[in-house]
Amino acid sequence: MAFETIALGDVERFDETTDVLVIGLGAAGAGAAIEARRAGADVTVIERASAGGGSTALSGGFIYLGGGTRVQKLNGIEDSAQDMYLYLREMSPEADPAKARLYADSSVDHFDWIEANAVPFDDRFYPHKHYEHSSAESLAWTGNEQVWPYREIAKPAPRGHKMPGKDEKHVGVGETGGGGQVLMEGLIATAETLGVRIECDANARQLIVDADGRVVGLRYTRFQQDHYVRARRGVVLATGGFSMNQEMMDEYCPVFADEVFGKLGSGYVQGVGHRLGESAGGVFEHMDGFFITSPFYPPESLLKAILVNVEGKRFVAEDSYHSRSTAAVLAQPERRAYLICDNAIFGRCEYPHDLIDAWETVEEMERDLKLPEGALQKTMANYNAHAASGEDPEFRKLPKWVQPLTEAPFAAIDCSIGSTPILGFTLGGLKTSAKGEVLYADGRPIPGLYAAGACASNLAYDSMGYSTGTCIGESTFFGRQCGKYAAAQAAA
Ligand SMILES: Cc1cc2nc3c(=O)[nH]c(=O)nc-3n(C[C@H](O)[C@H](O)[C@H](O)COP(=O)(O)OP(=O)(O)OC[C@H]3O[C@@H](n4cnc5c(N)ncnc54)[C@H](O)[C@@H]3O)c2cc1C
Repeated sequence: MAFETIALGDVERFDETTDVLVIGLGAAGAGAAIEARRAGADVTVIERASAGGGSTALSGGFIYLGGGTRVQKLNGIEDSAQDMYLYLREMSPEADPAKARLYADSSVDHFDWIEANAVPFDDRFYPHKHYEHSSAESLAWTGNEQVWPYREIAKPAPRGHKMPGKDEKHVGVGETGGGGQVLMEGLIATAETLGVRIECDANARQLIVDADGRVVGLRYTRFQQDHYVRARRGVVLATGGFSMNQEMMDEYCPVFADEVFGKLGSGYVQGVGHRLGESAGGVFEHMDGFFITSPFYPPESLLKAILVNVEGKRFVAEDSYHSRSTAAVLAQPERRAYLICDNAIFGRCEYPHDLIDAWETVEEMERDLKLPEGALQKTMANYNAHAASGEDPEFRKLPKWVQPLTEAPFAAIDCSIGSTPILGFTLGGLKTSAKGEVLYADGRPIPGLYAAGACASNLAYDSMGYSTGTCIGESTFFGRQCGKYAAAQAAA
């Protein structure tokens, strides 16, 4: 459903006035509010839920940061802003290069800002492959940095920095008490200490626009009552993604709209910020982009297996980051894929993937999986011939994940889309500048309007290129940009 703006001349009274009005109190809204307040602005945040936190508070709280952070250095990890930039560019080639450059160059500073405004990261490094380790170590590999060809384009470094959870052994994606909640509690406490006004149970409805097209306020409702708030310097949209709005999902993100995919996040991420921005002239980018995952590791030994499609052929480096492997499965015929392992590497997936069966020979497995005659045998023979010398010329897995699969019995694990829970969230949003300004289609900024987080399009735009931590990283970072630049505008 399209939203309409209200002309300033039609507003009879304003119930309140502020310099910077932030809509939504997740990672992006908190970043915006803190920076705007520090820049001297009077700041009000309205939040639809009864408390701030949003989807961010449900997350594990990984933040993609690099270039030589305190924790990277403590663990002897060498990284540079240039390598981080090259990696981000390669993984998100359609994303704005100026934003990737700014984000990489500012990453150490942003790490320090998060520690100063939320809580310190744990000092330790978790060296294994996991989709979300449950122990407290902060630093981990959360992308495709070591995967070919990316490892040749940018020097690999782990850049996922997890906020400490409520306890050392916090487990569970989407559960409370994880790093995302700790992050949000810290940021909200900082905002409150600085004097940011937070109004909860407040649902943003319509932007108010003056005769020159400048956004100067908002109508919101609180317990069925209309409220009109005037924003002298700017309005920041920070309402999160649109995974929970089926109509928008069907319209913009039809592949992910399918009920086979579980939607992660707060029930309030319904694309309201997207629609508000659109009503003022904003346009969208990468709206069909989404993150999905159904990881087949741990155990790590399964990275030594091969993933094949219904033609019995491999199609992705199996040591890819889990969202990349899942996205690659989605692109296969019938969306079907099997993880083939031998007895030497077999282990039960931690994630609930079904073991189809085990067979004494590859020929029997191929027949029972109804793969074309000889296809899997050929794939395995080819893989094993090179694996004997630790090589994988087809997809260039790292040698430590390459070993011949020759020890019977041979098992097949179902990695097909629909055979196991596949979870995700949307990535597309309003087109914005590196300052966070919402842009018209021709690239001009809409006066007075800013957006960040999952309602804007910044660095992350698909599962193939996603590195965990990019969303909260860009939400907090570009949220800060919005707050800083909105506060600096002349009062309307
Ligand atoms: C389970 C889970 C795990 C994740 N793990 C990670 C991770 O480890 N690392 C990572 O980078 N990303 C992760 N993500 C993605 C990441 O959490 C989000 O992309 C990011 O937090 C978005 O931040 P945001 O501030 O834009 O939105 P949110 O945190 O969702 O905040 C938006 C806020 O706006 C409010 N709002 C919405 N509509 C209105 C309205 N009309 N009026 C007023 N307020 C409104 C909402 O109530 C909400 O509080 C995860 C997501 C989920 C759900």
